[in-house]
Amino acid sequence: MSKKFDKGLYVSKRKAGVCAAHGCAQTVGQQHAYCSAHRQYFANQARFNRMTKPERAMMSQAKKRAKRRGTPFNLTLRDIVIPKTCPVLGIALVRGEGTGGAIDSSPSLDCFRPALGYVVGNVAVISYRANRIKCDASLEELEKVTDWVRRTQ
Ligand SMILES: [Zn+2]
Repeated sequence: MSKKFDKGLYVSKRKAGVCAAHGCAQTVGQQHAYCSAHRQYFANQARFNRMTKPERAMMSQAKKRAKRRGTPFNLTLRDIVIPKTCPVLGIALVRGEGTGGAIDSSPSLDCFRPALGYVVGNVAVISYRANRIKCDASLEELEKVTDWVRRTQ
């Protein structure tokens, strides 16, 4: 990780045609905020953060989702607690090694009632697998799916 890029980390505003990273004078196309070197740098940084600071990474991802959905967000790092095991499936919560994406056992932030947003009391860390199964299903839908599986086994 190159030190000279550090200052660009949290810059969001950009001048048209110039890389948005602080102090970078590279010109960029309309579709990009950052030059290719900085895009690569930030991608590596994001991967590094997911590996070393999973709570922080989960929080920033949740914040983005909340913004996109237009739902409330008031979590702080203290509110994101990764338990040893998934409270839904009981499997150990462990992250995948290396550069791959989430695996079944990866910790994943569950939003109990999505419409209420990522707010204190409405979230818990569960396994990625459990979260994927739940997805955005309602209790009624999940019960219907359970019924279906039971009837078809
Ligand atoms: Zn740049």
